[in-house]
Amino acid sequence: MNDNNGNSDEIKYCSICHRSEHDTGRQLDLPNGGHICPDCLQSMMNAVGSINYSDLMKDLMNGKIPEMPAPDKEQTPSSDEEKKDGGDERKFYGDDSTKDDDKKNPDRGPTVSFLNLGDIFGGGGQRQQKVKKKKKTGPKPVFTYDNIPAPHLLKAELDKYVIGQEEAKKVISVAAYNHYKRVKTGTMDDIDIEKSNILLIGPTGSGKTYLVKTLARLLDVPLAITDATNLTEAGYIGDDVESCISKLLAEADNDVDKAEKGIVFIDEIDKLAKKQNLNSRDVSGEAVQQGLLKLLEGSEVEVPVGANSKNAMVPMTTVDTKNILFICGGAFPALEGIIKQRLTRQTSMGFSAELKDAYDKDKDILSKVNNDDLRAFGMIPEFIGRLPIVCTLSSLDEDMYVRILREPKNAIIKQYQKLLRLDDVELSFEDGALRAIARQAMKKETGARALRSIIEKYMLDIMYEIPKDRNIGRVVITEDYINGKGGPRVEIRQLEYKPQPQIEDKSKGQQTKESTAPQQAAGGTLC
Ligand code: ADP
Repeated sequence: MNDNNGNSDEIKYCSICHRSEHDTGRQLDLPNGGHICPDCLQSMMNAVGSINYSDLMKDLMNGKIPEMPAPDKEQTPSSDEEKKDGGDERKFYGDDSTKDDDKKNPDRGPTVSFLNLGDIFGGGGQRQQKVKKKKKTGPKPVFTYDNIPAPHLLKAELDKYVIGQEEAKKVISVAAYNHYKRVKTGTMDDIDIEKSNILLIGPTGSGKTYLVKTLARLLDVPLAITDATNLTEAGYIGDDVESCISKLLAEADNDVDKAEKGIVFIDEIDKLAKKQNLNSRDVSGEAVQQGLLKLLEGSEVEVPVGANSKNAMVPMTTVDTKNILFICGGAFPALEGIIKQRLTRQTSMGFSAELKDAYDKDKDILSKVNNDDLRAFGMIPEFIGRLPIVCTLSSLDEDMYVRILREPKNAIIKQYQKLLRLDDVELSFEDGALRAIARQAMKKETGARALRSIIEKYMLDIMYEIPKDRNIGRVVITEDYINGKGGPRVEIRQLEYKPQPQIEDKSKGQQTKESTAPQQAAGGTLC
């Protein structure tokens, strides 16, 4: 509101140091609607004094937004710092070195050591962030979200990577299909299609994260994976809920449009369950569930660009979460008991003892989960309500482990086979060996992620010894080797370039040696 003299009641804040007009004295209005305090203006003028105008003119002619040099050397950030922060450095009170200077020279006002004129005069949006491109691994994009294929095609593509979990793949394909159809069409007349956020429940290592990662890669949408255990209520130590949107923005190379169509996967969501009998405030559980509500539903959030935390130095941008697909995942360890309890309560008349046993043996008990169970587990009803699609993943059995080792496009044994093929060595695994590895992985109870560490243990010596001996043409990982009863079978290739009469006479093809072969051939032990 303006008074008769044209003065406004509104308190002005300096666009640079963010101090109010009360603290700084009268502030100057800038053309972009911002303000600048006399101290910052003074510092800016000092900086202007040290500009090399011929270079500046060249930059302007080339369409670049010039950056001002520091007025004196002490205040100039080191080149390392410049690199780290992507060339967007402005130091104010937050920096220790400038604080010391301020103590010595209290009248000097805030130190502006490196200014970006574009920021002040409205061209901030054009500032170029130096973003290090991450090399993405995994499946190549097959579809695009704006041309989303029918769910069965999406599932067929997921099948190439994710073994089993048929129901989860089906549910996620349909949910993604509907979600991106909704995104593409925008608002549909008078019927607003609701968001189809997903809750994935399944034991650790059953493929929850892998499923989501594969989906995002296939659709070529940015994906942010956050751990719910790091999240805390705003104002407490830890990441606030909006940090997952900053991560998504970073994954989208700071492209807000792209980020707004991305996927956020919040893992370990079960760790946000309400704590029972807690006397203090539950800042990392229930409060985080509350905080996530607005994100899940769709709201505009202010997030820092190119940084994880909000502070005066980092430019902010607004991201609308309306079209972001949120997928939450968790193992919900005590949930099986809760489901069993409910089911037995429902059928507690007459033959309850028998039925209880039946549920105990039911391996698929998680799939019978409902909202009451989740509420009993500690999730708040509003939170559950915003995850309308609940989908369970089954725990992996021996057959699935074997298939995971063998079948996916980038299966672990395919990777080792490829590595050895580069040395002209053929690698194969006996069926029994794969089963033995699967059994060992099952004992570890960490799901399929145990497979790699187990197989790595057995492959280490092979990968070390094989390149030593050019005679080795084939290695077979036997069941006995995995069970610690022998070594791998090593087969010698026919030496064409150095014919040795004995070898040719004996085999007329390949000569087979049992486990001691590498010791003779390579002069070392394999296992
Ligand atoms: P979590 O369910 O704990 O999120 P992950 O998805 O991180 O488990 O799985 C760990 C690893 O195990 C994945 O990187 C993937 O290689 C493998 N994996 C797990 N489940 C499957 C599956 N169903 N099909 C293929 N690979 C799987």
